[in-house]
Amino acid sequence: MSKYIPIIGLEIHVELKTKSKMFCSCANNPDRPPRPTSGLVEAGDAPNTNVCEICLAHPGTLPVPNKTAIEWAAKIATALGCKLNKESKFDRKHYFYPDLPKGYQISQFDQPIGEHGFIELQFPVGKNPREAARIGITRVHLEEDTAKLTHGAKGETLVDFNRAGVPLVEIVSEPDVQSAVEAKSYCQELQNIFRYLGVSDADMEKGHMRCEANVSVQEEGKFTNDKGVIKPTGKNKLNAKVEVKNINSFRAVEKAIEFEIKRQTAMIEKGESWKQQTRGWDDDKGETILQREKETSADYRYFPEPDIPPFNPVKITGDISLPELPAAKRSRFRDEYGFSYSDADILASDAHWAAFTEQVMSELVDWLKTLSKKESPAQIARLAGGWITSKLMGAMAERKIDIRILKLKPENFAELVALIYTNKVNSTNAQKILAEMLNSGVDMDPTHIMEDKGYGQIADEGKLGEVVDEVLKSHPEQVAQFKAGKEPILQFLKGMVMKATEGSADPQMAEKLLRERIKIS
Ligand SMILES: [Zn+2]
Repeated sequence: MSKYIPIIGLEIHVELKTKSKMFCSCANNPDRPPRPTSGLVEAGDAPNTNVCEICLAHPGTLPVPNKTAIEWAAKIATALGCKLNKESKFDRKHYFYPDLPKGYQISQFDQPIGEHGFIELQFPVGKNPREAARIGITRVHLEEDTAKLTHGAKGETLVDFNRAGVPLVEIVSEPDVQSAVEAKSYCQELQNIFRYLGVSDADMEKGHMRCEANVSVQEEGKFTNDKGVIKPTGKNKLNAKVEVKNINSFRAVEKAIEFEIKRQTAMIEKGESWKQQTRGWDDDKGETILQREKETSADYRYFPEPDIPPFNPVKITGDISLPELPAAKRSRFRDEYGFSYSDADILASDAHWAAFTEQVMSELVDWLKTLSKKESPAQIARLAGGWITSKLMGAMAERKIDIRILKLKPENFAELVALIYTNKVNSTNAQKILAEMLNSGVDMDPTHIMEDKGYGQIADEGKLGEVVDEVLKSHPEQVAQFKAGKEPILQFLKGMVMKATEGSADPQMAEKLLRERIKIS
C-alpha cells in the first residue's frame, strides 16, 4: 500500500491596527463587538460611520497609501525572514461582489513588499511526526480589506463599509506544512509574532486574522517537491489542490485540515479523482463543503494600479528594528531562567505574559541574591512557571480577567512565589491569597493578606504537635488500622490535621509528626 503525503500551504490575512485606513484618512475601527469574556471592551463604531468618498469608491477620488501600513508590512516581512523588494507596487484585482465598492481590490500581484522568508517551528516529542519544521514564506504583501457582509434571518444582507479599506497583510507560505498540527502551530506562531510587533491584535474569532489552507494529498513516489514546486514523476498525475476557507479559530485550522486529509485519502483509496476547488469549513458539522471550482489568477485581470506610483519599501521604512521575537524569547526563558519546555512555550507565546513573567523573574532573581544560601534560579523558575501557567492563568480565566487589565503587579506575585518557596505559606493557602489578590481588583501585598487572615503555615512542632495529638485521640479506629499496616490511612489522618488547621499546617511536618506520635502511642 502506498503512503499518502499531505501537501499543505497556508494563506494568512491579518488586519493591521493602524489609526487610519489603507488609502484614506477614515478611522480604522471596523466593528469590533465588546469582549465581555476578556474584560476588555472594544466597542466598534456604528456601521458605515467610518467612510468617505475614497473608501466608498466615488468617481474621481484618488487613493493615498498609508505610510505606517507599508512600514508595518515591511516589519512583518522582516520578522519572517523575507527580503524586502527594492521596487514594490500596487495592482488592481478585479472581481464583482457587494463587499467591494470599487469592483476591484487594490492588492499586490508580482512585486510584493517582501519575499523568500521562513519560520521555524518546534514540537514536543510525540506531538507531531517531525520535531522541527521549517516553513518557507513565499511572499508578504499589502492590500485593502473588503466591507463586511451580515446575512440576516429573512434572507437580507447588510453591508458595513467600516471595514472597507482597512490595511490587510497577506502572508503566503510554501507548501511545506505536512500535518494539521503543523498548520495550527504555524498560525499560532504568526499570531504571536503580529502581537509581539504590535501591528495587530490578530484575534481569529474577531476576524482580525483569517486562514485559508491549500491541501492536497499525494502518493509517495508519484511526485517530487523541489523547493515548494510540486511536480509529478513519470506519467503520474498530481491530485488537485483544494482550498479550504471559512476557518475561524486555531482549533478549526487543525480540524478542517485533518478532515480534508482524510477525505482526500479516502477518495484516492477508492480510485476517485477530484477537480481543483474551494471548500468551506462547517464548524458545526465538522466537515468541508464544496463551494465552487476555483478561478485561476487570470480571472482577476490583475493590472498595475495607475493612481499609485511604484515605491521602494526599504527607502520608506528605513532601518527596521525588531523586538525579541517569540522563538528567541522561548529559548532564552529556558536557558537563562531554567523554565521547563512547556512553561517557556506558554509564557513566551504572548507578549504581555512574557513581560509579566520577565518582571516576576527579575524580582525573584534579585531576591535570591539576598539569601545567605546560594540558590540557583532554575528551582524557583520551575515554581514560578508552574504557578503562573496553572494557578494564576487558571484563576484569571475563571474570573474572566485578561492579562492586559490585570491589576496584580509582578512584584507582588513574585513575593507570593517567594512565600511559597520559603514554606511560609502552603499551596492551599497561597491559592486563597492569590484569589483575594485577584478578587480585590487592586494591587495587594500577599504578606499582609497572609498575616491578616492567619494563612501563614504552621511549621512549629509544638503548635502542630498539639493538633496532631488531638486528631489521633479522636480517630482511634483509624490509628489502629494504620498500625495494622494500612498505610493509605495516613493520608486520611493528614487530611484531618489540614482540616483542623484550615489548611495552614505544613503538610510534610504534619506527616512526620503523625508517624512519630503513632509509634509512641
Ligand atoms: Zn475612507
